[in-house]
Amino acid sequence: MQFDFIVIGAGIAGLSAAAALSVHGKVALLEREDQPCHHSSGRSAAIFVRSYGNAAVQALTDISGRLFAAESAAGDAALGRRRGVMIVARRDGDPGAAAPGQRRLSAAEAAARMPLLQAGLLSHAWLEEDAADIDVHAMHMAYARTLRANGGLLLTGFGVEAAARTAGVWQVSDGIRTLVAPVVVNAAGAWADAVGQLFGAAPKGIRPLRRSAALVDPPAGSRIDEWPMVIDVEESVYFKPDAGKLMVSPADQSLSVPCDAWADDMDIAIAIERYSELTGMEVQRVTHSWAGLRSFVADESPLIGWDSDSPGLLWLAALGGFGVQTAPATGALAAALARGSAPLEGATACLLRAVDPARVIVG
Ligand SMILES: Cc1cc2nc3c(=O)[nH]c(=O)nc-3n(C[C@H](O)[C@H](O)[C@H](O)COP(=O)(O)OP(=O)(O)OC[C@H]3O[C@@H](n4cnc5c(N)ncnc54)[C@H](O)[C@@H]3O)c2cc1C
Repeated sequence: MQFDFIVIGAGIAGLSAAAALSVHGKVALLEREDQPCHHSSGRSAAIFVRSYGNAAVQALTDISGRLFAAESAAGDAALGRRRGVMIVARRDGDPGAAAPGQRRLSAAEAAARMPLLQAGLLSHAWLEEDAADIDVHAMHMAYARTLRANGGLLLTGFGVEAAARTAGVWQVSDGIRTLVAPVVVNAAGAWADAVGQLFGAAPKGIRPLRRSAALVDPPAGSRIDEWPMVIDVEESVYFKPDAGKLMVSPADQSLSVPCDAWADDMDIAIAIERYSELTGMEVQRVTHSWAGLRSFVADESPLIGWDSDSPGLLWLAALGGFGVQTAPATGALAAALARGSAPLEGATACLLRAVDPARVIVG
């Protein structure tokens, strides 16, 4: 049970890092649940949007775009059809502003592109044409395949409960089994602060924020596959086609403890009300609802890099609402840092500083 690298958490971030590391050494990827991607990574809207997030997030998204396009471990089919994202401004609301890569549409053009919208309510919209669907399952499978092909081990049902370091090596245990490695990557999502503490690291103030979503039936006979994702400028509601249904979210951000999140009925009711307001559509039934946690630190940049107090512990966490679209880049960057190799192409000194966990001082 001796490894070169142990990765804790088989969400999309841990899978990506483990796959990248497995090319260079013996890797164990440990997951408490019975399957990977049970938490946030299996509950996302699965969209790739270049303008999303702050400058560090956008830089990571650009690198990911390149890695998705290359035949990378993410799988060449993971970035799916270009769906586009339309950010709509109401007549009586915030007009918003164009981000790079977005163009302005009139209310009539917006309604032509997305026929559910009521043109009379809108002032205009901002369209980001190249936003694309992500096949998260394809990414997950491709990373797991790479890990296995390189002799790596994915251990599910392994919840890390204790860690101790002796002679430059971490012993990581679930209370029954113990694995050892000199380097551990903390990719435990909403639990990353709790896992960090097992390794003697100071908490980074990670805040898990719950976001809920529901699937509703689209109007009969509509060709919804061609519709863009729609977000209200104030980010109070969004909806997008999802396997023949419409996924609707109130874009809620309720502070939560790390947990198996579930959708609150009130949040779903708010989502439906805002969707109906914008579209004039009545929702007869919600076919499915769920929630997941989006985990942030105060500056909303991720944590990717060595812990300053705990030797051999590398953070890959706080991936907010962008952890899927940035996974090819964040996993590759974490792997490059863990190996002490040349930094990932495109990862500038400025980006490395922006994601360095040492920047975060809590308390
Ligand atoms: C509704 C919603 C919509 C979203 N939409 C998008 C989107 O369109 N695009 C996008 O890029 N992102 C989106 N996100 C965000 C994205 O889902 C997250 O950023 C991403 O999944 C985080 O991945 P992760 O691997 O860090 O965390 P997780 O997927 O939560 O994985 C962490 C894993 O660590 C495991 N773990 C924790 N503690 C331990 C332990 N002690 N021992 C072993 N294992 C442990 C957990 O069981 C879990 O499986 C969305 C999120 C939500 C909720």
